[in-house]
Amino acid sequence: MKLQNQVCIVTGAASGIGREIAITYAREGGKVVIADLSKAAAQVVADDIVKAGGTAMAVAMDVTSEEQVNAAVAEVVAAWGTVHVLVSNAGIQIVHAVEDFPYSEWKKMLAIHLDGAFLTTKAVVPHMKQLVNGKPQGGSIVYMGSVHSKEASLLKSAYITAKHGLIGLCKAVAKEGGEFAIRANVVCPGFVRTPLVDKQIPEQAQALGLSEDEVIKKVMLKNTVDGEFTTVQDVAEVALLFASFNSAALTGQSLVVSHGWFMQ
Ligand code: NAD
Repeated sequence: MKLQNQVCIVTGAASGIGREIAITYAREGGKVVIADLSKAAAQVVADDIVKAGGTAMAVAMDVTSEEQVNAAVAEVVAAWGTVHVLVSNAGIQIVHAVEDFPYSEWKKMLAIHLDGAFLTTKAVVPHMKQLVNGKPQGGSIVYMGSVHSKEASLLKSAYITAKHGLIGLCKAVAKEGGEFAIRANVVCPGFVRTPLVDKQIPEQAQALGLSEDEVIKKVMLKNTVDGEFTTVQDVAEVALLFASFNSAALTGQSLVVSHGWFMQ
């Protein structure tokens, strides 16, 4: 068990990649917190984990609200004493060409991806810094980046800007966290079939004048080595590696998991 009794908050865990990370962490002995906009949706995932023999709780959290983030983290600490792992994963996608991007939607994208990562980090770090037997407890923060943390594609300026920004935040947190045994890393997946991607396929088909099949083959998977989607399990395995690695040899890093779409 790689995360035995570790308290792990996963944001956006009611769906897709976050859900799979929570299930994987619970299988490794973690006490997982399913944090999402809707507590009812988060509770469904928590109940599934408990039914499978794991330990989970659900909290309502809009990651763009400082009040909700702090209240949810306080609820977790009241229940389970501390936080060892944060996966800042909540995210959405909005696609437009730059000149058509409504400013309100640009700000919403940056708020969810960047403000959300900042606010959740800010809320958990004091718990990771607390002294246990005279030493800082420590912890691991995993940011959900993307190939778009490193590379650009058409119509995704806000997403690309935010995902690049997470690498900066990660490096800053890794530096500041060093003396407190707090590590920070970024997972950078290629396309994964989740509701976030399923919504984009028809939108991109319309914007680019392609069929949906062409969007998948000629846009999303064109540069992979094997024409395959990355899976939620692939991403969860990397998130597990970052969460459970047992020294600061692995901090301030970003790892692309994308079937070779982007090679660094
Ligand atoms: P998803 O739509 O399946 O899940 C996203 C979850 O985030 C949902 O449960 C949603 O309710 C939650 N969420 C949205 N806004 C929130 C907010 N303000 N506060 C709290 N929760 C909120 O999407 P997914 O594909 O699993 O995406 C998860 C993360 O992975 C995102 O950060 C996304 O950018 C990233 N990512 C996805 C892909 C992909 O191809 N699917 C690739 C690279 C990176």
